[in-house]
Amino acid sequence: MDTKVTKKKLGLKEKYRFLTRDLGWEPSYHTKDEIFPYVNYEGIKVHDWDKWEDPFRLTMDAYWKYQAEKERKFYAIIDAHAQNNGHLNITDARYLSALKIFLQAISPGEYAAHKGFARAGREFPGVGTMVACQMQSIDEIRHAQTQIHAMSNYNKYYNGFHAFADQRDRIWYTSVARSFFDDSMSAGPFEFMIAIGFSFEYVLTNLLFVPFMSGAAYNGDMATVTFGFSAQSDEARHMTLGLECIKFMLEQDPANLPIVQGWIDKWFWRGFRVLGLVSTMMDYMLPKRVMSWREAWNIYGVENGSALFRDLARYGIRAPKGWDDAEKAIDHMSHQFMLGLYQWSFGTSFHSWIPCDEDMDWLSKKYPDTFDKYYRPRWDHIKKLAAAGTPFKNYGLAKLCQTCQLPVVFTEPDDPTMSCHREAEYKGEKYHFCSDGCQDIFANEPEKYIQAWLPMPQLFQEPNNGDLAAWMDWVSLKDGLDNGDYDGSQDQQNFQQWRGMATSNQ
Ligand code: FE
Ligand code: ZN
Repeated sequence: MDTKVTKKKLGLKEKYRFLTRDLGWEPSYHTKDEIFPYVNYEGIKVHDWDKWEDPFRLTMDAYWKYQAEKERKFYAIIDAHAQNNGHLNITDARYLSALKIFLQAISPGEYAAHKGFARAGREFPGVGTMVACQMQSIDEIRHAQTQIHAMSNYNKYYNGFHAFADQRDRIWYTSVARSFFDDSMSAGPFEFMIAIGFSFEYVLTNLLFVPFMSGAAYNGDMATVTFGFSAQSDEARHMTLGLECIKFMLEQDPANLPIVQGWIDKWFWRGFRVLGLVSTMMDYMLPKRVMSWREAWNIYGVENGSALFRDLARYGIRAPKGWDDAEKAIDHMSHQFMLGLYQWSFGTSFHSWIPCDEDMDWLSKKYPDTFDKYYRPRWDHIKKLAAAGTPFKNYGLAKLCQTCQLPVVFTEPDDPTMSCHREAEYKGEKYHFCSDGCQDIFANEPEKYIQAWLPMPQLFQEPNNGDLAAWMDWVSLKDGLDNGDYDGSQDQQNFQQWRGMATSNQ
């Protein structure tokens, strides 16, 4: 008979140490350089990988337990939402445009982050780093899945949700987010950590998820609120991981400072450009608005951002290069972007509209220095054209920025009456940019950005050859259903009818 041995139960801290530090070993038949070929070429010097602190010290069994619990809650609410026609509780179907953009542009970004972290986990030699990247990789695929599942219910009733995967690859406005993620995934592992951990998780999560989720709550969208909550506790972990990575690089060697600063400059601007879509969603697309884009920026951009950069100042880090230009753009960007979306609405897989008088009054109140002066007159003009039966549609194709891939619809930082265009020549070809920030990014890595696939020229290439109907087919956009004005759309009519049936006896 075996003697009974009392097993000593390990504490969480010990468990984490066994999971991370003691999992690694010294390779014997391959050199470290052979095993981790990508870790040196970016120029980041690391002397001691054990100094990497994963701030959450989460063991795998604890991780699965927490996540499983969240999944159970999530799917219970999603089921209830589907069974009780939760889609009829939203304010009105205009709100869905924001959701469609999210599904087409942001959820695929979660999936890209999943792939990126799986790769980064393999490329870093430190075990603590590997484990943290592995967990984030699993988090990110969970985010993509829960978002797609939550929004799949809307796809049963409304247009524009049916082809988000094709649209991620082919339609013009999603390439802004897609190129952001492709750029990060094709960078080295350290730059990837700044791109996602700092720019996506820190700059974007605060300004995208927080207002987006409160927007969903304000507009009665329980499905989205639920995936937001389910992701939020992961996001806190991700932000800390990104920040920890920045500090790790800065503490390991003083020579890392200029490289890290360069990435912060680059990825702040790239993140800021993706926020163009978010600003429009907040100011124009939510029937019931939480706060203006300006107000969100003051809290999450200025306050949180300044605190972050104060914290990093002791390492010699300064605020990102494009910070002042960003501040100057805040009171303009959502209006400029919505005007763009409205005039090119034949090519969007969501609806846009002319803001009503009440919305315009709200915008003047929130943007006292810019809206009445620069944007209300344009909307008034557009309104007149629509009333005369000649709505303003722009079938000309916009010039795209080679870096961020947005149409160049923005104005000069110091002159809101002048379009901002930049141009550079590289190896005999001309390239166009929306801003100094984007031109700088190109100038630092021209060989990377000349390879960018731009969605507008695709209209003239195989298999579309300049045929708009063929292009719509190719991007899986159903003309007359997915695109165009909200007023008179099938989404609007159906929502009104169904809601009427749910709330009356007719
Ligand atoms: Fe995520
Ligand atoms: Zn740009």
